[in-house]
Amino acid sequence: MRRLPVYLLIDTSESTLGEAHDSIMQGVSKMLGTLRKNPYALETVWLSIITFDATARVVAPLTDICEFVAPELPIHPGTALGAAIETLRTRLSLEVMRSTPEKKGDWRPLVFFLTDGAPTDEWRGPLARFKATTPRPAHVCAIGCGDDVDFAVLRELADEVFQLNAESEQELPELFNRLFVWLSASVNSASRGLEEDAALPQNALPKGVARVENGDATPPRNPARPKFVFFHRICSTTRRHYLVRLTYNGKFYSSPRTFKVEKDFFSEGDPGAPEIPSELIVDESRCPYCDAYYVFHCECGAMSCLQNRESVFTCPSCGQKCSMFGSHTGGIRGSLG
Ligand SMILES: [Zn+2]
Ligand SMILES: [Zn+2]
Repeated sequence: MRRLPVYLLIDTSESTLGEAHDSIMQGVSKMLGTLRKNPYALETVWLSIITFDATARVVAPLTDICEFVAPELPIHPGTALGAAIETLRTRLSLEVMRSTPEKKGDWRPLVFFLTDGAPTDEWRGPLARFKATTPRPAHVCAIGCGDDVDFAVLRELADEVFQLNAESEQELPELFNRLFVWLSASVNSASRGLEEDAALPQNALPKGVARVENGDATPPRNPARPKFVFFHRICSTTRRHYLVRLTYNGKFYSSPRTFKVEKDFFSEGDPGAPEIPSELIVDESRCPYCDAYYVFHCECGAMSCLQNRESVFTCPSCGQKCSMFGSHTGGIRGSLG
């Protein structure tokens, strides 16, 4: 039986925290459910999931959808698109069976890249190597979500490019739901119509998903003013880690949302907050663990929540006793000693 390999490459950078990430996880499970109901897909479709953030990870190698178990998709900082392309190229050559004169190999794989940001690593070299592979290793489809996507990059990467347009964050779950229904339908009809190598069937696009042709995508937002800025903090009461996300409204970074994260969120390295001038930052967040309002910036670089403005404070990151000065909200500074 010739297989139809399907690769999902999912951006798991910190900007997908919240609705986007939950919706993608649900989307993957639903997609599996849908494909398993289609006898054609059940016979032919094999699925792999590769995530990319600080680096790329094969979280699920190419597996028969009957046996596929939807994996966890942990989030880390960064959007390593170059590493994702390189990993994809390696996996395709390892996992996909080429045709030989004696035997038909697998169908040409379908690849879906899902991203919400601009690459943070070197991607041109990996892309050139990917494109130099002959015969063409896969049919690649890229889906960009949000204002920070560089569609010019996606155009170079993919055969087909789509843009997800959410009016608001509240709309994201429904939008991702429609996207995954559409992806499932596309894979379903590709598995049914396999007479030649699969291209993405022209199923009607769902509401909120638009095809991007050359030159008609809006350029990415000013990279010096990304949509979100993140601060990594440690709760001084519980020692647990959290992120504060502020959203750019055209003037300021405000409207904080906090996310509890595990310590290993930063295992790949904390790239730190981007260089946003402090006068643009309006942070009225509270610690999601202990509700503390103040923030202590230690000289070691760590930021932690602070219940009271004590005169001496032990930094939960470096363990140093610190004395404090300054008192404006959200920005108490400290010195070691
Ligand atoms: Zn706290
Ligand atoms: Zn410290």
